[in-house]
Amino acid sequence: MRVPFVTGNWKMHTTARETRDLLNSLKALLKDINKITVAVCPPFPYLFLASEILEGSSIHVGAQNMYWEIEGAYTGEISPRMLKDAGCEFVIIGHSERRKLFKETDEMVHRKIQAALTEGLHPIVCVGETLEERENGKTTEVVESQIKGAFAGFKAEELKGITIAYEPVWAIGTGKTATPEQAEEVHRLIRVWLADRFGRELAEEIRIQYGGSVKPENAATLLAQPNIDGALVGGASLKAESFAAIVTQACL
Ligand code: PEP
Repeated sequence: MRVPFVTGNWKMHTTARETRDLLNSLKALLKDINKITVAVCPPFPYLFLASEILEGSSIHVGAQNMYWEIEGAYTGEISPRMLKDAGCEFVIIGHSERRKLFKETDEMVHRKIQAALTEGLHPIVCVGETLEERENGKTTEVVESQIKGAFAGFKAEELKGITIAYEPVWAIGTGKTATPEQAEEVHRLIRVWLADRFGRELAEEIRIQYGGSVKPENAATLLAQPNIDGALVGGASLKAESFAAIVTQACL
């Protein structure tokens, strides 16, 4: 049985004060949760603060991105070692906003996964098709090529701690959610690919989150699908009550 996993991606939002308020509210609202993994990914400047506030709670800290080198002359970049130092356990890699706005390729995603794993971080690897790709019947091809690009060359035992987030690009921040059936179809295809490539044991272990306008109102039906193991939540993770309500749905 896979333990559900819900992650909040705060993107480029919040101030230090808002970070403090949001995390203190979440800590109170989620103090009794169990049999679920919950992580929040605030912006880089607030990672230490988040780790400090969440110490002793069951909410984990993650980052939204990283570079693949450990240190060096890479002005403006953040390394996986720095993330570990700041108390992160998870890191989102290959979010569609990074692929689109910052031109991240599957090869870069692959290098980041490798570096994250080497430093002991758990990557949450995002994949998903655009609306145009879906309308042209290319969803399977696009998602398969993204997972192939991300994970080619790894051995099954190296990938134990990873999570995959299926996030159809047309559903991110748009209010449009994939139907539970649309999402489940892609989640199943990812799991079958993992089983073919790395064996059934790993495929059954890896958690596949759905992301794209997840809200308290639609979380339950999405999370009831057999291959949807949790959610990557953007907008709704910025309000303690809505994020806590999604986490509660995932525990049902
Ligand atoms: C995301 O940023 O990963 C995301 C899914 O955003 P939203 O929930 O706002 O669609």
